Amino acid sequence: MSGSGSVPKSDADIALDIANKLVKKGIKVVALDFDQTIVSVHTSGCWKQGSVKLTSHVRPCFRHLIPKLMEAGLRVAVVTYSMQSGLISDVLNSALKDCDTNRIVIKTSSKDWEGESCAETLGKQQHIASVLTDLYNEDHTNIIQSNEILLLDDDMDNVTVAVNFGHKAFAITDNVSLESLCRYVNNAL
Ligand SMILES: [Mg+2]
Repeated sequence: MSGSGSVPKSDADIALDIANKLVKKGIKVVALDFDQTIVSVHTSGCWKQGSVKLTSHVRPCFRHLIPKLMEAGLRVAVVTYSMQSGLISDVLNSALKDCDTNRIVIKTSSKDWEGESCAETLGKQQHIASVLTDLYNEDHTNIIQSNEILLLDDDMDNVTVAVNFGHKAFAITDNVSLESLCRYVNNAL
């Protein structure tokens, strides 16, 4: 009866809609950058103000979206140059109340990996490769193709590298919202 759009959708509805559409479009893993993506600030990998303060900077759209992605059966990973994995884990636990954050794969940079010059050319590829290895080790039927991975990252260089490696990728800006993510999924993915 009622035409679509006559009743404003709740944030939870939009988040669920995005998650379902990602599944429909073949995405299996959503990899999110942390600094200036999940949180609106940049920790520079040396945040000293505690997890409570940092949790207050988690963008509302990701508070809604991440649990719905997981509900829809997508795997969620955090791929970050930061090495503060404990802090990131605490922030996710506090910000995402209704989901099993233990299922989120957190990949910080590893000391074993090459330095910053490598980061410019490889973007988040080492992190993503490491996520895929973890998922495969968890279940050997988890074989993820490159075009089944979506990277959300505020760094345009990382987005470009990801696309060059055959992934889907969306550049996060300061005005990111569930609506802008939904438009990307509808029109550009
Ligand atoms: Mg970032």
